[in-house]
Amino acid sequence: MSVGPLSQKLFATAKNLIPGGVNSPVRAFRNVGGEPFFVRRAKGSRIEDVDGKHYIDYIGSWGPNILGHAPTVITNTLHEVAKDGISFGIPNPFEVEMARTIVDWVPSVEKVRMCNSGTEATMSAIRLARGFTGRDLIVKFNGCYHGHSDSLLVAAGSGALTHGEPDSAGVPADFAKNTLVLPYNDDEALEALFTERGDRIAAIIVESYPANAGLVLPKPGYLDLLCSITRTYGALLIFDEVMTGFRLGKAGVQGIEGIKPDLSCFGKVIGGGLPVGAFGGRADIMDLLAPIGPVYQAGTLSGNPLAMAAGLAQLRELDKPAGFARLEQLGAHFESGLRALMQEKGIPHRLNRVGSMFCLFFTDREIVNVDDVMQQDLELFKKLFWGCLDKGIYLAPSPYETGFLSLAHTEADLDDTLSVINDVLSTL
Ligand SMILES: *Cc1c(COP(=O)(O)O)cnc(C)c1O
Repeated sequence: MSVGPLSQKLFATAKNLIPGGVNSPVRAFRNVGGEPFFVRRAKGSRIEDVDGKHYIDYIGSWGPNILGHAPTVITNTLHEVAKDGISFGIPNPFEVEMARTIVDWVPSVEKVRMCNSGTEATMSAIRLARGFTGRDLIVKFNGCYHGHSDSLLVAAGSGALTHGEPDSAGVPADFAKNTLVLPYNDDEALEALFTERGDRIAAIIVESYPANAGLVLPKPGYLDLLCSITRTYGALLIFDEVMTGFRLGKAGVQGIEGIKPDLSCFGKVIGGGLPVGAFGGRADIMDLLAPIGPVYQAGTLSGNPLAMAAGLAQLRELDKPAGFARLEQLGAHFESGLRALMQEKGIPHRLNRVGSMFCLFFTDREIVNVDDVMQQDLELFKKLFWGCLDKGIYLAPSPYETGFLSLAHTEADLDDTLSVINDVLSTL
């Protein structure tokens, strides 16, 4: 299976100029054994590639495009705001409105600092947690991806997992030794580690719902345990809601689960498709940041007016009655159709779905953590991926990524997709 001739030609050129031909590894399609298509334009739920082929998109730029591609509210906002300047390096009113919105929507966040990517958000939150506690160790979970800063590229998911290199070359062993990795959903391992070294641990960082190695859900009580154990030992709990924040509701997973983490990280949806990240939480912790505190953190383009305005326009749409509730409706529609289809085909599978996020696993193992995710039938996934792509359905080019619905998707899109999946599975 392959993509069109113009995409092939561009990729051949790109490979001579850009390492692997891409600016982020998962885009290279290596995990499905092929080459990527190049996009020419995208609108709503659809992408058109440079060869003129159309696809219904289930990635949405890996999460940010929750209203669909190029929504008029955002493109209009960008036109208007850009006329008055693109970047100032001086405070602008949009930053204050963005901070107000995040603080209003997310109860655990009393103060927030904007940055330019999810990676910056988690990297800075870790530094802040270390500065606040005066401790060096951090705890993360096997398969959780928190961007590509040195401390966090240990047993990470997403692109790192896809390429079978959970640990990156170039991360000094001296850094990595301060990152302790635990299996997710394992109470005993967590308790044992804290009993042994809890007084030296600065923070636990966790993907609020791990979604970069499939979509894995916490066992009942697990998030409460993370909360209570950090409190007991004077460590901080950092929720990485870069993917789930403002996608699964106004207060993300912490809103759904009733958890109050000390610090939270955001990105993706709050940027409306522009490069944005944010981290926030308890004011007494956040006030340790420069310029009023000793923990340094900065950014030339942080709080960029276009990014803030685009993000705000997106959040305002989500806050309407046809926002999160509609996403849940679409998610439920897709889930029930997909469940019925898989049952009818008799293919062993698991399906995890929350709101507009979904992940289908070709295994009958219960999905407790990344070890279960790794056990699935990868050949079957590849066949489904290419079969769907051929018929104009773009699913994530990796079995370890979560699928995303947007407000631009319709029931008709979802039904068309289910019928393509049905056709593809029937021919296998
Ligand atoms: C995408 C993602 C990141 C990294 O964000 P970037 O903007 O790609 O740097 C961090 N954490 C989670 C949970 C993510 O999904």
